[in-house]
Amino acid sequence: MLKEWGKYVVAVTIVFTFGISQGAFPSRELLKKSINVGAIFPSNTVTEVAFASALQRASMESEKYRFVLKPVYVPYGDSYAASKAACELLGSGVIAIFGPTDRISAAAVEARCRAAKVPHIQATWRPSPERGIEKPIPAGANVYPDSTAFAFFMSRFVKDSDWIAYALLYDEDEGLLRLQEILKHADPEHKWTLRRLTPGEDNRPLFKDLKNDTRMTKVIIDCAASRVLEYLRQAKEVNYFEDYMSYVLSSMDVPSLDLKELTHGLSNVTCFRIFDHEDSRSRSYLADWKVRGTPEVNIPHTPQEISVEAALASDAARLITDAVESAPDEFQIEAKTLECGTEDQWEIGEEFLNHILTNPITGITGNIQFDNTTGERTNFDVTIMELSSFGFNRISQWNPESDFINLRSEHEVADIRKEKWQNKTFKIVTRIGPPFLVMAKPKEEGVELTGNDRYEGYSKDLIHELLKETLNLNYELVIVPGNAYGSYNKETKQWDGLIGYLIDRKADLAICDLTITYERRSAVDFTTPFMTLGISILYLKATAPEPELFSFLNPFSVDVWIYMAAAYLAVSVFLHVLARLAPNDWENPHPCDKSPEELENIWHVKNSCWLTMGSIMTQGSDILPKGYSTRWICGMWWFFALIMCSSYTANLAAFLTKTAMEVTIKDVEELAGQTKVKYGTLAKGSTYSFFKRSNVSTYQKMWAAIESARPPVFVKSNDEGVDRVRKSKRGYAFMMESTTIEYYMARYCDLMQIGGLLDSKGYGIAMPFDSPYRTDVDNALLKLAESGKLIELKNRWWTNPDGDSCTEEGGGDDDSSGGELGVENVGGVFVVLGIGCGVAAGMGIFEFLWNVREVAIEQKMTPTEAFWAELTFALSFWETKKPVQHSRSPSVASGSNNASRASSVLRSAADLFQNVFKK
Ligand code: GLU
Repeated sequence: MLKEWGKYVVAVTIVFTFGISQGAFPSRELLKKSINVGAIFPSNTVTEVAFASALQRASMESEKYRFVLKPVYVPYGDSYAASKAACELLGSGVIAIFGPTDRISAAAVEARCRAAKVPHIQATWRPSPERGIEKPIPAGANVYPDSTAFAFFMSRFVKDSDWIAYALLYDEDEGLLRLQEILKHADPEHKWTLRRLTPGEDNRPLFKDLKNDTRMTKVIIDCAASRVLEYLRQAKEVNYFEDYMSYVLSSMDVPSLDLKELTHGLSNVTCFRIFDHEDSRSRSYLADWKVRGTPEVNIPHTPQEISVEAALASDAARLITDAVESAPDEFQIEAKTLECGTEDQWEIGEEFLNHILTNPITGITGNIQFDNTTGERTNFDVTIMELSSFGFNRISQWNPESDFINLRSEHEVADIRKEKWQNKTFKIVTRIGPPFLVMAKPKEEGVELTGNDRYEGYSKDLIHELLKETLNLNYELVIVPGNAYGSYNKETKQWDGLIGYLIDRKADLAICDLTITYERRSAVDFTTPFMTLGISILYLKATAPEPELFSFLNPFSVDVWIYMAAAYLAVSVFLHVLARLAPNDWENPHPCDKSPEELENIWHVKNSCWLTMGSIMTQGSDILPKGYSTRWICGMWWFFALIMCSSYTANLAAFLTKTAMEVTIKDVEELAGQTKVKYGTLAKGSTYSFFKRSNVSTYQKMWAAIESARPPVFVKSNDEGVDRVRKSKRGYAFMMESTTIEYYMARYCDLMQIGGLLDSKGYGIAMPFDSPYRTDVDNALLKLAESGKLIELKNRWWTNPDGDSCTEEGGGDDDSSGGELGVENVGGVFVVLGIGCGVAAGMGIFEFLWNVREVAIEQKMTPTEAFWAELTFALSFWETKKPVQHSRSPSVASGSNNASRASSVLRSAADLFQNVFKK
């Protein structure tokens, strides 16, 4: 029995299997409802494969529907053919039409679909409708990102990248429309230029022209991916594809290009993509395409190579199938054959389109949502990609809701950057000026230094620590032509010095005692300051003047001394004359004789001179005039003597205490308030600008004085300024930065700083705007500061290698007391005394010899006898009385005189003998 049943089951199975294989029973597929979907493509495209594969996949997944592709092949850009194709498809009964992917043809198809109310699905960029024009009711949905939303993304990207100047290049009208959308959001402060590239022609002059504007380092190129390489090669040929340049390629198919030849340049190349090729979805769709693809179609090998058009075509198919699948049961989807040019319409078309627009899906290009009033896709993710030696890398992602999200860790970014910089030698522009950079001396004679070894100083050590020791990068020091820091010329609109050099992109970094100023910051970028400082005043210390032997003459000028001598002589003679005229000065020579026969006048020239001399020396005289006129002239002379003596005494004290008469300046207010000491700055430096632009009245006043000073008070270098201060004998003060003042004061003990700091600022390392090195150099600088290396470097270059010798030496303004007076100061008085004594001795000898002559004549002695007799008597110091000599008759006189003289000499000798023995 069981055997019977077994036979029966086997027979039924065989018959059933055979029946299926022969099509005797309907398969599961055959039970599904066929849904026709129209599409217009050029023949043999990946877009078609992608669209068809997506329909097939949906059919396989669906329980109820089988999606049948109705393709019509139309050449790209043929809108007439596309319009005809649309009619053909409508006539065959389709529920939706996809394509074509060129904007103009798509518009023609859209018009047909709108009339027939059959949804038109597009995957092409189209400009947002002009403002003020009423938006038509959508005829379909566009899976390509909305142009307004995409332009907003681009403007956010520009803003986020801190661009301030950029060039926008396009090569077809559509590109211009797209770039104009971006410019609608442009910051009015930003500088931009819009230029047209010509495909297939030489665009190098255009790139050269852009290169001349050194700020134009950011370029957005809107062109088909297939032409990107052509343009970038041309830019490279004119060195416009260099370090600091950033190119943004707006075509979303760029990531599928092979740009290996550009990976060795230092320019940044960025592009965008609206789908993630690393996503598993793109990989699985690509597998389908490979199965379905024909040999005529170039199916991508890797998800990386998938074009945006193909990805969007796949998503468009998915959009249609999902809408059909998710439509409610009462919603009977049945295609209708419609004839173009008639009133024929698909009754449920509008409702179905509405369903498509409100039914979000997730495709290869992410979440797809529409604005159901326009049919535009509002929701999309943009992946921002950067070219590296391994091809394009994802760096961040943007979405209207989340804005930018970083996809790379700081570490990864740093690694990529470092790898890029390894083969580069950084150009560091600097200037010569101690202690920041000086020419190095070779250790051995005859050895010539080369490269960076030619220099030494703080700047070199700092840059070495930053680049070589911390970041492991190579560098080369370059001295800026003209050795200038950098100032802006309003007439030429150009920067000179280090700043100009950076702006011209001739160097990567600029380092020296370069002050960070607002004006410079608007032209270049700076790191955080590595040294803080302020403006102060460098001045020469008050030094003791050279001691002078005749300094007692200093209180009066030579003129005054001459006038005084002349006045003395004139008054003495005048007194003599007046006395002779004044009766009261004629006196009785013998007061006891009441009736003298003659009167005597003692005011001969000798006595007059003695009186005037005595009074001017504040000693007085024991003889005084009695006449009215003589007493009056005497009084006048005493008044004159009083004033002159007091002035001399007062002035002498000041002169002998040396510095009391010198100008002392204690701060900037005092400097500004005087005119004796000139002051100046380094020409065209930040100190110069500080005074020039200051709004503070004191500094404005100082600037007026600085500017009008003749000879000019500007110097070309700090060295020159210091030199001028030292040589000016306190006639010049130099407005200088405190750090350099500190350096020079440690070396020259005669220098000092006056007052405090007038401002507060810092030195920074400058670099061109948008420098890719900014963050790394900044971080390395902070590291050095935290480790104490900056202080160590400063001490190394600021400390005087010869030791601090300034503590004992030097005067200074406090030192104005001058201390006690030495021989050097008052020696002249001794000299005058000595000379006076000498003159007195001469006069004494003359007087003595004159007397000897008279004695010889009177006593009829020989001059020798008279000399010896007078000398012997003069040397007999115990003799206090001198006998009066009477003249003798010539014959006797001589003998008796001789005898008496001899006896007196003998007496003297005996007295001397006795005195000696008594003692
Ligand atoms: N450090 C100044 C500058 O960067 C130069 C010196 C000065 O102006 O005092 O311009």
